Amino acid sequence: MPFARAELVSAITPIEHLPNLSARLGIDLHIKRDDLAGTTMGGNKSRQLEYYLGAAQQKNAQTVLITGAVQSNFVRTAAASAAKLGMRTIVQLEDRVPDVDALYGSNGNVLLARLLGAEVMRYAAGEDEAGADAALRERAEIERKAGRVPYVIPLALGNPPLGALGYMRAAEEVVSQDADFDVVVIGSGSGLTHAGMLAGLRSIGQPARVIGSCVRRDATQQTQRINTVLEALSELLGSKVPVTDADVVIWDGAFSPGYGQLGPSAAQAMAMMAQSEGIVLDPVYTAKVFAAIPALVDNGEIPEGSRVLFVHTGGLASLFAYQSSLENAFPHP
Ligand SMILES: *Cc1c(COP(=O)(O)O)cnc(C)c1O
Repeated sequence: MPFARAELVSAITPIEHLPNLSARLGIDLHIKRDDLAGTTMGGNKSRQLEYYLGAAQQKNAQTVLITGAVQSNFVRTAAASAAKLGMRTIVQLEDRVPDVDALYGSNGNVLLARLLGAEVMRYAAGEDEAGADAALRERAEIERKAGRVPYVIPLALGNPPLGALGYMRAAEEVVSQDADFDVVVIGSGSGLTHAGMLAGLRSIGQPARVIGSCVRRDATQQTQRINTVLEALSELLGSKVPVTDADVVIWDGAFSPGYGQLGPSAAQAMAMMAQSEGIVLDPVYTAKVFAAIPALVDNGEIPEGSRVLFVHTGGLASLFAYQSSLENAFPHP
């Protein structure tokens, strides 16, 4: 691919068999350990950042600007990855989640961003992607006037979906490890991970069903978002990605009560994975994503005996910022 890439994920992440959950659910379940991708608690954003920071390096950028929720993994991974590449980071934290406590605002990803030397600015509205980008671009102008070259990683649709290239590459990696999955279950937020994996698999002729599990908006809105990202990806690549409407499969059964809030089915999924396999999921993303698997086995959409790959996209840094919701979900006996 003719796109600049900064190498941030230096090793292939493992695909591990999950024997206890496989037996319990009657499927052949594997996990792609993308929680181990990249530096400082890693995750899927490391793969996306390879292309954003590659572009930033190509422009000789000195300052990277990025926006996200207060407990954004993207923002923290950007701060860590940019530090490694010798760039400064300015992060904008948006108040997207209602009813949060002091730990939410200071621990987890916020604490790590501070340790990583990022400058932190706040943005009060949490559901205005274009507004958040505009505020970031204003801050970038100040950098430019101070004589530094800024690079903005935008959030809203309408920008080249460079991050999706990281998951097209991940699709090739998965196939190089094991080509035989019937179903891939993956998080669907900005949609870059989901659209990239789907486009990547289809581009190399892999027919596995890709199920995107909603973490940010409901299935109707998310279906539209994935279609828009796929169109933008075709435009970026200069040729139409070989994905049909029927390929876009979205599940939102554990999305409630909303972005960044842990509901009962996500909490149950977290307990199931932790207590059966000793692998911890995060309350914002991967708990809601994994919840799709037992639910879809239950209703028959994932047939018995299927070979299923669950993509663990990381997010563990936020665990300690979610202490009170986790204590509520898992009370002491
Ligand atoms: C951001 C994130 C996702 C969602 O990825 P998108 O590319 O935004 O759809 C899933 N899991 C984790 C842990 C994340 O941080």
